[in-house]
Amino acid sequence: MSDAASYLFYQTRNPRPFLDRGEGIYLFDENGKRYIDGSSGAMVSNIGHSNPRVLAKIKAQMDKATFGYRLHFRTHPSEDLAAKTVLLMPRGLDRVFFVSGGSEAVESAVKLARQHALTQGQPKRYKVISRFPSYHGCTFGALDLTGYDPLREPFAPMMRGMPKIAAPATYLDRDNLSEAQRGLKYAELLRDKIIAESPETVLAFVMEPIGGASTGALVAPDSYYGRIREICDEFGVLLIYDEVMTGAGRTGRFLAAEHWGITPDIVAMSKGFGAGYAPLGAIVAGARLVEPVLDAGGFLHGFTYAGNPLACSAGLAVLEELEEQNLIENAARMGEVLMARLRELMDRYPFIGDVRGKGLLTAFELVSDRETMEPLPTKLNAYDRLVELAYARGLIIYSRRTRGGTSGDHFLVAPPLIITETQIDDMMVILRDALDAFASETGL
Ligand code: PLP
Repeated sequence: MSDAASYLFYQTRNPRPFLDRGEGIYLFDENGKRYIDGSSGAMVSNIGHSNPRVLAKIKAQMDKATFGYRLHFRTHPSEDLAAKTVLLMPRGLDRVFFVSGGSEAVESAVKLARQHALTQGQPKRYKVISRFPSYHGCTFGALDLTGYDPLREPFAPMMRGMPKIAAPATYLDRDNLSEAQRGLKYAELLRDKIIAESPETVLAFVMEPIGGASTGALVAPDSYYGRIREICDEFGVLLIYDEVMTGAGRTGRFLAAEHWGITPDIVAMSKGFGAGYAPLGAIVAGARLVEPVLDAGGFLHGFTYAGNPLACSAGLAVLEELEEQNLIENAARMGEVLMARLRELMDRYPFIGDVRGKGLLTAFELVSDRETMEPLPTKLNAYDRLVELAYARGLIIYSRRTRGGTSGDHFLVAPPLIITETQIDDMMVILRDALDAFASETGL
């Protein structure tokens, strides 16, 4: 490890080798060892690494201009990317605002909602209800919405403390309700919370349509999604979908919202939108929401790098690649294959308590007892240990141990959307080997 590492103070996991290069679903370290990028980094590299067509387009833009401030010039990449994004969105979501990451997107969505409320003569609306567990980012505003106390509490009292409801972790419920009834039960928590908070003070509800790292690919019962939309409409509360992880095709549709035919009021995207080729994100809303804000003087918001031509040319090339290679369809098809393989693991390892997800956003959760879903003892450090065992064998997966609404150590398996069935099988060979090693180490 070079001494230069000591100058960095962002979180790293040492000792880790130096990254050399990427190619497709693979990453190579400087020693030439190959890793299957089974989590697309942090669910970012949707079209795989070093895509030659995307690189060529980025290089072409680089040769022309890397930056031109948006108040000084229009740029083709930003306008073309906005147009392409709108084409891929559910109808009615037709105004785009670029940012450089997920936290920025979530913050921007909330500020747009707030400014919209002001134009509607509703200055009292400021509360944003979110869910626990959830993850919406690490800046103060986004962190305030994040339903994960270990990340939030150290920064109190610098945030307001926005109201939260439980995420629909129905796989932990042991009641006699049907899945549809459970979905409705969790949705009613929102209605109850809006009423308890006084509806005229509630601005928005923000949710990850399928949980990311916070819950490990938690998918709610179908009934949940429509009922949430109805409740928001009933009280004039804006519905913000945080599709930072789920957007740009990851779940087998461009937006996860499309699985349930939901049109949110505002969508936040990042990760797969730039797909690791540029720091890029966007919020997308309908003209109905945006125009009053523009008429009232404009959105009081904007980051220096937002919409820069280099990032937008990368984003445009990524979306073109998604389309030309039919990668969203591939995510849906390969997602079925991956889910079937993960279910097979449950026959082999009794300590896998649940397998879930949609498209290529999947997860499995380790427990002590599948019946009760009792988590593994914390001292096993399973979320860390299994990742290490897989890494040593050349497979990268992403893990969390969540305390709160859900339990247990969960592992996200979310490879690039270009993955093939053979590559999924290769990935499963390594994963089984790592799970075998974990079982023999722990005696499980
Ligand atoms: N929202 C969700 C659902 C996320 O998964 C993340 C990142 O993991 C964020 C927001 C924050 O994105 P970023 O780390 O790019 O700021």
